[in-house]
Amino acid sequence: MPAKKKKLSLFLFIDAFGWEVKQRHPDFLKGLIQDSKPLDTILGYSSACDPSIISGLTPSEHKLWSSFYYDPDGCPYKWTRYLRLLPNFIFRRGRVRNQISKLIKKVCGFTGYFQIYAVPFQHLPLFNYAEQKRIWEPDGLPCGKTIFDRMAQEGIPYFVHDSDVGDAARFEQLTGDIQRRRVDFAYCSLGGLDALMHAEGTDSPKIEKLMQWYDGKIRALLDTAEENYNEVSWYIFTDHGMHNVTGSYDLASDIEALGLEWNKDYVAFYDATMARIWFLDERSRTPISQSLGNHPKGRIISNDELRESGTYFEDGQYGDLIFLMNSGIQIIPSFMGIKPCKGMHGFNPADPDSLASLSSNQRIPAHITKIQHIHQLMMEELTLEGDAPSEPRTNPKNGAPTKRNPSTQ
Ligand SMILES: [Zn+2]
Repeated sequence: MPAKKKKLSLFLFIDAFGWEVKQRHPDFLKGLIQDSKPLDTILGYSSACDPSIISGLTPSEHKLWSSFYYDPDGCPYKWTRYLRLLPNFIFRRGRVRNQISKLIKKVCGFTGYFQIYAVPFQHLPLFNYAEQKRIWEPDGLPCGKTIFDRMAQEGIPYFVHDSDVGDAARFEQLTGDIQRRRVDFAYCSLGGLDALMHAEGTDSPKIEKLMQWYDGKIRALLDTAEENYNEVSWYIFTDHGMHNVTGSYDLASDIEALGLEWNKDYVAFYDATMARIWFLDERSRTPISQSLGNHPKGRIISNDELRESGTYFEDGQYGDLIFLMNSGIQIIPSFMGIKPCKGMHGFNPADPDSLASLSSNQRIPAHITKIQHIHQLMMEELTLEGDAPSEPRTNPKNGAPTKRNPSTQ
């Protein structure tokens, strides 16, 4: 049997495996996790958090925050305005909206995750879509570089998940690459837990079953990794936690009741937990600010708070006013869905249920406290062996394997 490869760094992302969720499943990877800690998340959704994890940048820096933003001139799918002429009942169907999402993605050449969700067809041409490129590849961000840019530049062979297949297939593909010792680094995102908790809430017994399945899959994966590499560092992490939804609220009706004209005085995008308002005519600012400023179901996020969380955009790209719902209350109907979920994230990042988590077989340095710091961990993992950046690591003859002191694990 050929000699083992020297080192594998494994970054497994379990979507919505927040700190509170982790506490409820103490048997998950019991005996293997050496260190774990909660991490602060970022206000918003995975569309904001995931680019931050892989770049170390905040949304204000990499320019990806929510999915849609007001940009009627730049919108690349303006032709969808004709869809509004077709009967409404057709377009409320999820299957139809999925097909139309696929069509827009193809026509516009988007390579990233694209979904029109429940954005009304008459409003769709007003909004551009932020994540047009697949972020898990080099050049995936509008601004800044990710770990994938860095690895491509240095010729480091890596695995990254295929977003078009389910978790089981992702494990299978990753296991194959590890068995063939093809990679030095792996980043694998797993979406099953997030989807299950959206549908069932955080208390469903099905979650324990799924965590047991992940436990088995990850243990087998780590065994395979140990068989093929002298040294395996692994990190299991997420970008946010999950709240149970305790109620819903029709926020759009409150705004509409102010009697202002849509797309003349103002435009709003209703995310699941946030409303983002653009003031097209300054006269709309006072009534909307007053209405939302004294609202029993949520609060306006101040610019200072946005700055602090790295989600302030000076040019108002994602809205001139950001309103966040009280934790647990989902906007229904929103442009992201017309029916409430049982679980939702994207509420106040300071809530315990919002916290992300990080677990590892390595000691986690004290300075790693926010999700965007995971990027530093990845960088440290990749530079530990001290190869010069210009020296590609794809050549297996490239130097004798060096083994780090196992006592540091
Ligand atoms: Zn989610």
